Amino acid sequence: MSIHAMKKLYEGKAKVVYSTDTPAVLIQRFKDSATAFNAAKKADFVGKGELNNRISSMVFRFLEKRGVSSHYLDTVNKRDMRIRQVTIIPLEVVTRNIVAGSLTQRLGLPEGTRLQSPIVEFYYKNDELGDPLLTEDHIRILKLASSAELADLRRQALLVNTALKELWSKCSLELVDFKLEFGKAIDGQLLLADEISPDTQRLWAADGRKLDKDVFRRDLGDLVETYQEVHDRLVKEWPELKLGELLDAPTN
Ligand code: C5P
Repeated sequence: MSIHAMKKLYEGKAKVVYSTDTPAVLIQRFKDSATAFNAAKKADFVGKGELNNRISSMVFRFLEKRGVSSHYLDTVNKRDMRIRQVTIIPLEVVTRNIVAGSLTQRLGLPEGTRLQSPIVEFYYKNDELGDPLLTEDHIRILKLASSAELADLRRQALLVNTALKELWSKCSLELVDFKLEFGKAIDGQLLLADEISPDTQRLWAADGRKLDKDVFRRDLGDLVETYQEVHDRLVKEWPELKLGELLDAPTN
């Protein structure tokens, strides 16, 4: 099976997706760029793409073991993972355990307030509109997902939350919140897609440091050093998730 990227199909803020010569198998390449506030703030960080590829690969491998199927197939080199082709549902599914980020503004609750039980929110993946929060009725009239699919997305988000809390607590990190995207495979199966990295989660260390993209959003420290620390904690506490020697192969 080929691992060579062929034609560029899509380029986003942090990743590029290429076709391969195997039908329904794509390459997802992680870029070094970081954006925040709907791309109003942008910068490049050498090494970020590789770290997010490694972290996201290990997280998808862990989730598979916990019964969550995703588009992830394998990791082919430092920047690239092989994924199953899916049609992305234009919803950002955010799960929160602790109040932070946009929820502090929306509800007026202080950052750090612990929620009695996790909450799941749906945002419209639409840059022009600024990714607005959607109600279930909005999702229905926009025909973004059926009621049954929405229930499935919520169930999967909560399952991922339970698994990620286990993953990160062993690394002495608290899972504050995270964003997931889902897609439909050619056979219609709903699959977890996109990435799960410090770009898409908030992770708090016991000493109060924020080990995620908030270091970039709020100028709290060195992004690459921060992501490296998350990576190293994962490798140390979950050696079974470590990636193989293929990662030393050059990127095509
Ligand atoms: O900004 P907000 O507090 O709503 O973000 C909630 C979670 O979703 C955070 O972990 C953030 O990193 C993630 N997120 C994301 N992509 C977006 C919006 C939020 O990964 N477009």
